[in-house]
Amino acid sequence: MKILLVNVDSRWNMAIRRMYNYFKKDHEVEMIDLGFSGYPHKRSKIIDASGYDRVYVSNIFDNNKDRVTVTGCDWVEFGGIGSNYPERQLPPEIENTDPFYFDDEDTSYGFITRGCIRNCWFCKVPKYEGALKVYNNVERIVKHRKVKFLDNNILAYEHHCEVFQWLIDRNIRCEFNQGLDFRLINEKNMELLSKLNYMGEYIFAFDDPKYQRMLDKKLVIMKKWVPKPWKFKFYIYFHPSMEVSELLDRVEWCRKNECKPYIMRDRACWECEENLKNFMTDITAYCNQPAFFKNMSFEDFLSRRHTDKERITRTLNIYNTKG
Ligand code: SF4
Repeated sequence: MKILLVNVDSRWNMAIRRMYNYFKKDHEVEMIDLGFSGYPHKRSKIIDASGYDRVYVSNIFDNNKDRVTVTGCDWVEFGGIGSNYPERQLPPEIENTDPFYFDDEDTSYGFITRGCIRNCWFCKVPKYEGALKVYNNVERIVKHRKVKFLDNNILAYEHHCEVFQWLIDRNIRCEFNQGLDFRLINEKNMELLSKLNYMGEYIFAFDDPKYQRMLDKKLVIMKKWVPKPWKFKFYIYFHPSMEVSELLDRVEWCRKNECKPYIMRDRACWECEENLKNFMTDITAYCNQPAFFKNMSFEDFLSRRHTDKERITRTLNIYNTKG
């Protein structure tokens, strides 16, 4: 068969890479990346798949649902957590296949676990992946000197300290890029985290403001083992149904503690009232670029970013009245 694999919007699509390795044993396989953004955009794509027997299309982000049309082939399957079929799973024989890497790639990717022990209201993981379960092992995932783990909540895995020790013993450059759960930090795992050959900042999630007091306590442990300023980054989730003050309090908490904020806007932020939408665009641009966040006030940032004085005033009104 002649098979086309389409990665719509992921930097590195695990399902597509596994399918490539699986199918290429017996078939002619081609793989393309469309490079669509995870942010709202207007792009779409019609793929002429004449001559192919099968086409598989995978997307991660909801906003890319229905943006790809495939013509010329009767056998097309869409999947991925952002598609209309987020519950679709790979068959076990493909799931158990290692992903394909190009010769010039220097970083491995993988999940040791899938699912999560939590049930955050805004998150799709509990719905589509369920409770935390073991999925793979570190030895099998790491094929390079660098590795990026995509686990949703690695600290909830009962053997996470053994994983960290394995990486330390081999001096593997690594990153857990989906955000660590600070509620599960303790002296032992934080000491091991501090000894990892880590890429960039340690990323945690500060999605729910109600945990701030607990975070204050955990930060003492975190800073004991990693005292360098700005070595922690916190994902800060925001949905328009939340108070802006809940966002700004977390941002200011980050500043006070020399941690980098990284605002994760819910998709609804692009569909909300115009002034709030503009405010969210500006505050996100400010917070998510450390060079600005660390070196200038939000007001100065706005004056550099916009010439429209009224826009600045409207944004500052939200910032000052709800902050
Ligand atoms: S902790 Fe993270 S992965 Fe788990 S449910 Fe909450 S947001 Fe999702």
